[in-house]
Amino acid sequence: MLDYAHLAEKKAHNSVSGGGYEIYNTDQWEKGKMVADICGHFSTAVKNNEIQVWYQPQVNYKTGKIVGAEALCRWKHEKLGWISPGIFIPMLEQAGLIYDLDCLIWDKVCQDLHRWNEKGIQHSISINLSRYDIEKNNNIADYFNNLVRKYDIAPSQLRIEITESAYVEDTELLLKTTTDLQKYGFIVEMDDFGSGYSSLNMLKEVPVDGIKLDYIFLKDEKNKEKSKIIINYIIKMLLQLKFNFIAEGVETKEQAQFLLNIDCERMQGYYFYKPMPVTDFELLDFDDINNKTANRA
Ligand code: C2E
Ligand code: CA
Ligand code: CA
Repeated sequence: MLDYAHLAEKKAHNSVSGGGYEIYNTDQWEKGKMVADICGHFSTAVKNNEIQVWYQPQVNYKTGKIVGAEALCRWKHEKLGWISPGIFIPMLEQAGLIYDLDCLIWDKVCQDLHRWNEKGIQHSISINLSRYDIEKNNNIADYFNNLVRKYDIAPSQLRIEITESAYVEDTELLLKTTTDLQKYGFIVEMDDFGSGYSSLNMLKEVPVDGIKLDYIFLKDEKNKEKSKIIINYIIKMLLQLKFNFIAEGVETKEQAQFLLNIDCERMQGYYFYKPMPVTDFELLDFDDINNKTANRA
């Protein structure tokens, strides 16, 4: 009972209003157990190779070619089976473990890029950089620079995605990190643009190389026509401002065609490919997105 009371007390402490009260409920207990299963098992999971990098190809729908891929982490937990990043990433962030996970992912991506370069295949891969990573290591640009030197890959092969909310929450540090990364030749993209926090002013202030449009614009069935108008004008604006951009979360042919009609050529989403293990990714035909199983090896 004391354990339950402590959990409720913790929740009351963390609540935004503060100073209120909370009543213990079983969901909280289950969540606490899940956090323990995930964060407590993390270092063993690393040793046991439970954590993998999967790749989701990005395409140019106009040319029909694969133009890159996003590296997304996947965890096959010893006890819980496959767990979604949507669950374990926020937990690792809270526990201060996300930097360890990300360092592992970036290392694996650079190993893959090195192997592909050796075979004469030059890919560019997008990786996710969390705000917590930058807070943990204020010199993240130096870290990445050492990493690409270690694996002898070009900095421009790494596209570093930073979510737009990070720019709002810690503007100064994020702006410095962005320019430091660019000085070394890395490509920096603002992830989840339009997901809630963005102000158009940010497009002026933040010196990113590219913008990743959040899927929220495509998913809004209720306000479909309004969403289409908004996305149309955002793309016009990005074109005039000379930003590179890509739309994510493209799930249907209709969405892909709509985006192409308004001059958005680069896309990522289940309509084209779902995230896949590296062995499957290596079998793709990069020159023809309709030919999904050609063996390039
Ligand atoms: P994100 O960076 O916005 O990544 C895109 C997410 O959308 C991925 O979810 C991807 O599988 C999913 N997705 C791709 N196409 C579609 C589509 O057509 N429809 C729908 N509904 N979803 C699509 P995933 O892999 O579950 O990752 C969720 C989030 O977890 C990522 O969102 C990212 O913020 C975070 N994440 C994933 N891997 C890493 C990592 O290695 N490090 C860090 N720091 N965060 C990561
Ligand atoms: Ca991302
Ligand atoms: Ca995103």
